[in-house]
Amino acid sequence: MTVITKSKIWLSSPHMSGREQMYVDEAFNTNWIAPLGPNVTAFEQCLESYLSANVYVAALASGTAAIHLGLQVLGVTRGDDVICQSFTFAASANPITYLGANPVFIDSEPDTWNMDPELLERAIRSRIAKGKKPKAIVAVHLYGMPYKADEIRTIADSYEIPVLEDSAEALGSLYMGKRCGTLGDLAILSFNGNKIITTSGGGALVCNDEAQREQAVHLATQARDQAPHYQHTSIGYNYRLSNVLAGIGRGQMEVLEERVHARRANYSYYKDQLSEFAEIEFLPEPEGVFANRWLTTILTPSYALREQIRLALERENIDSRPLWKPMHLQPVFKDQTSFINGCSEDLFNRGLCLPSGSNLTREELYSITKVIKSVL
Ligand SMILES: *Cc1c(COP(=O)(O)O)cnc(C)c1O
Repeated sequence: MTVITKSKIWLSSPHMSGREQMYVDEAFNTNWIAPLGPNVTAFEQCLESYLSANVYVAALASGTAAIHLGLQVLGVTRGDDVICQSFTFAASANPITYLGANPVFIDSEPDTWNMDPELLERAIRSRIAKGKKPKAIVAVHLYGMPYKADEIRTIADSYEIPVLEDSAEALGSLYMGKRCGTLGDLAILSFNGNKIITTSGGGALVCNDEAQREQAVHLATQARDQAPHYQHTSIGYNYRLSNVLAGIGRGQMEVLEERVHARRANYSYYKDQLSEFAEIEFLPEPEGVFANRWLTTILTPSYALREQIRLALERENIDSRPLWKPMHLQPVFKDQTSFINGCSEDLFNRGLCLPSGSNLTREELYSITKVIKSVL
């Protein structure tokens, strides 16, 4: 019989402030147990004032739902090409296929690990030459590190292609003083259980004008026309956020800055402790960038050493994870058009995400680095 003496250290677990319960109780006490209500409205307002640009937020059931609706608001339909960062979680790309459109994957550059602007431009030109101008670009701030937004914006504008900014992992990050979530033509956020703040499950679409938000909310609420009876002129979804869960979101927004601070402190701890080992590389913040360090990631010189570290942590009941497997290497996307330079495949082979929750204790951080040091 194995006796597990140590409790598991998770990669990124929910971290409640204690304020959430009050808003959830409010929902119960007022019987707003519905996918609308005062918590939903207030949570949207919290997000709007936090992002502090002229944005209009629709709170939704998930980040994936937000991408699905965002692509529709940008006019993506069956048969369209949509450019998507290859190095990401599948949820960035899956909604493209829900609409019958085709993802075209773009590899990463080494400075931020996000979409390579040069490859992006090459891909756009190549698709235009084939008579298939892409309808939208899905760019991702992976692990909370902002993508090269100025470069991507310039290219997108010169070909008049809108950008859907996947900021699921980057709430709290800044690019040239602007908050992630305000850099695209539309942006999405996620409040899934593993993200920097959570509503257990939830997401948001961030719009630059009110009409777009209205269109998204209309689609998210079964596309009901204005009529006393149920009437529909388009196909809708049931994608709004629950008022109970939005209560959790309100409580989490009160501690967002603390959560960012704690995640960044984890990164600093790992970097301080491991910088003496030449084998371990970190991803520095480029000039003008403030990353929320949603997850601390390290690069090792080889797949073999990465696996040695990962397995040593696993034996101590410590969760760690290889970096995202690029979409162009996923069996489900093997036949998609892709523009590849080898960067993301290399990162996938050599990289590891370390436990990064804002609720990690100093003792836990100490025991994690101790295991890594013992391997090195
Ligand atoms: C989590 C995540 C999503 C999806 O968000 P959900 O709320 O889980 O649906 C999309 N893109 C990226 C990069 C993510 O990390």
